[in-house]
Amino acid sequence: MYTLKCPICQHQVTYPSEEKAIYLPFCSKRCKLIDLGRWLNEEYRIIEELPHSDALMRQEKSPKDRERDHNTPTEGDNV
Ligand SMILES: [Zn+2]
Repeated sequence: MYTLKCPICQHQVTYPSEEKAIYLPFCSKRCKLIDLGRWLNEEYRIIEELPHSDALMRQEKSPKDRERDHNTPTEGDNV
């Protein structure tokens, strides 16, 4: 016997064996899908934030890049 508490619905479920607990650690496919949906939602949130911070970083970076380009002698000048 294999007993577990579903983290989604908090129901305690009992499987004949651990191998039979195909929706581990959930009680059913429904709860597994709910958990998957939560993960996807979090991923979407992360993906949404990424282009935003990337644009901010590029804005901060570009003046420094221009400065570095200015201070670096162009290749070929010393030859
Ligand atoms: Zn459940």
